[in-house]
Amino acid sequence: MMYDVVVVGGGPSGATAAEDLARSGAKVAMLDRAGRIKPCGGAIPPRLIKDFAIPDHMIVAKINTARMISPSGQQVDIPIEGGFVGMVDREHFDEYLRVRAAGAGAERITGTWLRIERDAAGTHVIYREKATGTERRLSTKLIIGADGARSNVAKAEVPGGDKIPYVIAYHEIIKAPEATGAYDPTRCDVIYDGKVSPDFYGWVFPHGASASVGMGTEVAGVDLKQATAALRASSGLTDCETIRREGAPIPLHPLDRWDNGSDVVLAGDAAGVVAPSSGEGIYYAMAGGRVAATAAMACLKTGRVKDLKLARSLFMREHKQVFKVLRLMQNAYYRSDERRERFVSLCRDVDVQKLTFEAYMNKSLVKARPLAHLKIGFKNIAHLTGLIPAISK
Ligand SMILES: Cc1cc2nc3c(=O)[nH]c(=O)nc-3n(C[C@H](O)[C@H](O)[C@H](O)COP(=O)(O)OP(=O)(O)OC[C@H]3O[C@@H](n4cnc5c(N)ncnc54)[C@H](O)[C@@H]3O)c2cc1C
Repeated sequence: MMYDVVVVGGGPSGATAAEDLARSGAKVAMLDRAGRIKPCGGAIPPRLIKDFAIPDHMIVAKINTARMISPSGQQVDIPIEGGFVGMVDREHFDEYLRVRAAGAGAERITGTWLRIERDAAGTHVIYREKATGTERRLSTKLIIGADGARSNVAKAEVPGGDKIPYVIAYHEIIKAPEATGAYDPTRCDVIYDGKVSPDFYGWVFPHGASASVGMGTEVAGVDLKQATAALRASSGLTDCETIRREGAPIPLHPLDRWDNGSDVVLAGDAAGVVAPSSGEGIYYAMAGGRVAATAAMACLKTGRVKDLKLARSLFMREHKQVFKVLRLMQNAYYRSDERRERFVSLCRDVDVQKLTFEAYMNKSLVKARPLAHLKIGFKNIAHLTGLIPAISK
């Protein structure tokens, strides 16, 4: 048996790639090791819900306000106009995507990827089957590595795949408290405070019956549990029952190459693709899975391995600009409490709110309002040079 493509990983990127490939008529296997819920805040934008046809029953909470909180405790509520941020539980969301991929014709295989072997007969994915513990092999023309952050496929196959920088993110899933002034099941809190994270941010994301409370940092030696305890205390969530504690890396930088020049292409976290500033990765993983499937189909049709490069170029064509702006924002504002204070102040500006949320919700930078861009540019400079006081009400 020879597959056209073996997709390693059945998270959002792998399941999307497998589904798209199956729908395009490819013979595809999706290998996932299963058995672990991906640690994740689970926030998804409307663009994802639309582009990937996510049904309403997958959305466990609909968020209509984002509250930005500064080190001094100043709060800026940003209304989410004309839509909502959806919350998904990864335990059910990922399985839904895998079932959908199988429904489209992808063969589901449960086991752990071990290595790739090549011989005269072709390329083979060697994996340990979960049910029996035995080593098995899948012969294939192409492989999509969608096995998440710290991807073993990337490390083994793609130059630079072992050198992606990471933020370590940690969160606690808690039983949601009653809705009060402090906790609102339709509001996400984003906390910019050096006591919670010296270089990223903390969050409280409602998920219906539960909530995700966590933080991320790239700085070694930060006590993630202590920082989350401080965050829970300042948010009035200390006494809520803790359901799970878990952490995982979030990659910080897309790889310069996503393919190995012969038969492997990466997608999602494996390719290092998570938005700077926000750490948002689910949409980009699914978009990455889609372009990887497109590239694989092109390569299968033409027989040209250089078509695998399409995955990165198609992705970057659409998202490079937003990533650049978000990277600049993170570098400028996540460095000190004084900068974080300024950032939250800047969020009071209605144009900043509109532009930021347009970028998040629809994944595009609005070009139609040059004057607003100009004003924001001036405000940015004024904040970064200290011309405007940090707390401007
Ligand atoms: C604490 C935390 C909070 C986050 N919050 C958000 C958020 O609110 N919104 C958002 O958009 N993003 C968030 N992210 C980022 C988001 O979770 C990831 O970007 C996203 O899951 C990437 O999807 P993926 O399919 O590329 O990888 P993954 O979701 O990691 O999927 C990889 C899959 O590969 C499988 N796998 C791995 N190794 C092997 C192997 N050797 N053999 C077989 N299978 C294997 C795994 O079982 C898994 O199913 C968060 C991340 C963390 C850590």
